[in-house]
Amino acid sequence: MFDSLSDRLTGALKDLRGKGKLTDADIDRTCREIRLALLDADVSLQVVRSFIARIKERAKGAEVSGALNPAQQIVKIVNEELVGILGGETRRIAFAKTPPTVIMLAGLQGAGKTTLAGKLSAWLTKQGHTPLLVACDLQRPGAVSQLQIVGERAGTPVFAPHPGTSVGGEGELGVSAADPVEVARAGVAEARAKHHDIVIVDTAGRLGIDEELMAQAAGIRDAVQPDEVLFVVDAMIGQDAVTTAEAFASGVGFTGVVLTKLDGDARGGAALSIREMTGAPIMFASSGEKLEEFDTFHPDRMASRILG
Ligand code: GDP
Repeated sequence: MFDSLSDRLTGALKDLRGKGKLTDADIDRTCREIRLALLDADVSLQVVRSFIARIKERAKGAEVSGALNPAQQIVKIVNEELVGILGGETRRIAFAKTPPTVIMLAGLQGAGKTTLAGKLSAWLTKQGHTPLLVACDLQRPGAVSQLQIVGERAGTPVFAPHPGTSVGGEGELGVSAADPVEVARAGVAEARAKHHDIVIVDTAGRLGIDEELMAQAAGIRDAVQPDEVLFVVDAMIGQDAVTTAEAFASGVGFTGVVLTKLDGDARGGAALSIREMTGAPIMFASSGEKLEEFDTFHPDRMASRILG
């Protein structure tokens, strides 16, 4: 991801090298190239416009001073603005004052929620936490057993209803296995009883946005009052990522974003648009199918990667 964007941005900025002084025309030309590169990378038009406006304003007003030549100064400005649209600082998980911390995952089917549930729980376990996974995707056949496999790989127990039984193992909780809201509630109760300090709730996704899905996710959210709702989005879906994010923002609301499939060869516009368009920080990035291909999202590192 970002290969072509990266090549074009570095190309545009390279042209400025060796110039002792930059004219407004130089800046305009460079900004035009950056603008086209971003649009071709599928970055949303609104984000591109404000990004370019800020760069132009700062570049034209920049004092030529210190150790940086004019070209280096523009590179610095572009880098800082890229870090800005990616969210500035890394945002960490807001842990609950009284455990368990409840983290709910939301997103479309195929976004990578179940895979992420495993990655996140393995990552948290490495840091000394004792997570519990809760299987609330009762829509898709096989979703519960997929989470169980993921949980096994990550070394994390999974709370799931047995088909046709009530939730809670021996049925003492007496809730229907068909109701994801009840499963979520019972999962959090189980975490409390067994002293898990984190609960990760995997929820159902549809191929497209639909009202029933939103209502179900909102029901789970109301029942378990999550400390974090992570919107999981496939970075390969380009511009659609922003539309989907906006639908989830109004239907369920979320506190952070997880970008998945950053290992793909898509153009990366989603990654660059989503923070500005939704206001929610990108907290984690997933870049492969393996458990360890996952990390905290660092805006500064991502910006450096894009600028090559
Ligand atoms: P869910 O429907 O949201 O739970 O999505 P899944 O976790 O089942 O993932 C859908 C598909 O995407 C699976 O084949 C995963 O192996 C794959 N997948 C998930 N995350 C990544 C990733 O970061 N990179 C790649 N290449 N594939 C991923």
